[in-house]
Amino acid sequence: MEPRRRGILIILSSPSGAGKSTLARRLMEWDPEIRFSVSATTRAPRPGEREGREYFFRSRAEFAEMVERGEMLEHAEVFGHLYGSPRAPVEQAIAAGHDVLFDIDWQGGQQIRNSALAEDVVSIFVLPPSIRELERRLSTRGQDTPEVIAVRMQKSYDEISHWAEYDYVLINDDIDRATEETRAIVTAERLKRSRQVGLVDLVRRLSAEFKEMKDDLGT
Ligand code: ADP
Ligand code: 5GP
Repeated sequence: MEPRRRGILIILSSPSGAGKSTLARRLMEWDPEIRFSVSATTRAPRPGEREGREYFFRSRAEFAEMVERGEMLEHAEVFGHLYGSPRAPVEQAIAAGHDVLFDIDWQGGQQIRNSALAEDVVSIFVLPPSIRELERRLSTRGQDTPEVIAVRMQKSYDEISHWAEYDYVLINDDIDRATEETRAIVTAERLKRSRQVGLVDLVRRLSAEFKEMKDDLGT
């Protein structure tokens, strides 16, 4: 039997347009067992975004009620809108032994790192190769108005300035390499001894088996 393992909370942050959503999608294609934490937001849906898939789209009043009822694991205002991670799906996923992926900003990252779940957090910051390329990506994504892009570019360095609070930092120059690096981080973090809670049982069995076989070994 495979030893059981504690789930990890993978936090991806970056300035808008650096490639978190792309990396998140590729990570979940690689391992469909990873659960995406679908955030609630007060911003309007972009073309193609679906309720409950990319976000839960809520009014400010509905969002405030969720916060009041203690339903948010973390929440913050980003680019003039409220964003938050609903607590229940995360707790259910962890209890079932799944890893959970968050696409959230530095404020959310800080709140989860300072919560009771801190030990399970693996945080990754994604840097763009240049500010010019960041702007090019936001423009060619073609989903935001020039005004929205301008606000995001203005705030890009605020987000970048938190890079050193993260466990890992990737430069998303080549998306295939950045994807490979993200997978490598997740693979290594899953193998951490502290997360392999079933190892003690396995080693106990190996020990018993070793004692049984000892006299016949190496002869
Ligand atoms: P974020 O979620 O961080 O806002 P996205 O994942 O939406 O960013 O990426 C922004 C745009 O840049 C998208 O159009 C995406 O296809 C593109 N993109 C992502 N990574 C790269 C890369 N390494 N090289 C070129 N374009 C990229
Ligand atoms: P977007 O509007 O481009 O989907 O997201 C804007 C920013 O909000 C991104 O930096 C994204 O990571 C962040 N964000 C999305 N969901 C959450 C959330 O639940 N909590 C926090 N703190 N930030 C979020």
